[in-house]
Amino acid sequence: MISFYPGPSKVENKLSEYFAEAHSQGILSMNHRSPGCMQLVEETSSLIKKKLNVPEEYSIFYVSAATECWEILAQSYDGISYHFYNGSFGEKWFNATRKIKPQAIGYQFDLSKELKLGELDLSMEEGLICITQNETSNGTRVSNKRIAKVRKKYPDHLIAIDATSSLGGAFLQIENADIWYASVQKCFGLPAGMALMICSPKAIEAAMNYAENKHYNSLTSIIQNMEKNQTTHTPNVANIYLLNRVMNERKNISKVANKLEKRAAEFYEFIGTKDMVNPLVDKKNIRSNTVFSVKGKPESIERLKSKALEKGLTLGNGYGEWKGHTFRVANFPQITNKEMKKLLSFLDENLT
Ligand SMILES: *Cc1c(COP(=O)(O)O)cnc(C)c1O
Repeated sequence: MISFYPGPSKVENKLSEYFAEAHSQGILSMNHRSPGCMQLVEETSSLIKKKLNVPEEYSIFYVSAATECWEILAQSYDGISYHFYNGSFGEKWFNATRKIKPQAIGYQFDLSKELKLGELDLSMEEGLICITQNETSNGTRVSNKRIAKVRKKYPDHLIAIDATSSLGGAFLQIENADIWYASVQKCFGLPAGMALMICSPKAIEAAMNYAENKHYNSLTSIIQNMEKNQTTHTPNVANIYLLNRVMNERKNISKVANKLEKRAAEFYEFIGTKDMVNPLVDKKNIRSNTVFSVKGKPESIERLKSKALEKGLTLGNGYGEWKGHTFRVANFPQITNKEMKKLLSFLDENLT
């Protein structure tokens, strides 16, 4: 069975080998305050920085889930947070924040349009600007250029980005935002249960100034522990080890992203030749390169998904308001070109 589900998604092919290594080397029962574990964390962070072109002065933190990052950010920063979203995950982030900070502001933009901040003027306010870079529910993305524009317009705000279904698969200019986070069960090809947070010196300074420390996952405690390459709690050491092994094998993100962009272009072009279905998103430059969303009649989509299962292919269900009339396809690095070809030939046979 090949899973094209956009999370949890297909894991890296060599995962069982890596896991066996972790077991035989004692990694799975290693104390998280031991020198060996601190070294593993340090090494993994420098690998991530190198392979994903993360500026040296940024810090990497290991937490449990992207969902946890919503809460960490809501509790660890002063001021208002502004949420720009066009789909379910951005909206969930906004709603999670509102429970902690009722003054959070949400701004929903249209699926057919690029993110624009024009309508809102945040210049008199301080706070966190929250953007879902890759909206997994509908297969849209916000370009590096757009994020750079936000940064230019609001140089003093903190910019936080949910890149859960793109970090590790898309080329992202990390220097254009202060906080990036992603769980590992998407583009990293790992089992669920861990997320990465990448923070700029400005993000760290602001959290330390606010000094909120009421929670085990208060950002101040996370930062203080990571100064020793440690975590506030016993972390998912197995997943840190697996991440280390996976990142070690992967090429630089510019190469990885290039491959995925080519596959995305082919996929969308192919879908364009079929009458039964269409890309959910019309505008080419907002279509995600890592999560594809394809729309059609609910009964055709249902039939296609069950036929795919018979052929050993799992298509991703639609999500949220697009649940019934779309299917989604993960175009993540761990999916091979051969597997993607197999999917295309299945679709070719079944979309007529
Ligand atoms: C999957 C996903 C999440 C949630 O990830 P968890 O690991 O379940 O917390 C959040 N945001 C986006 C954009 C996602 O794709």
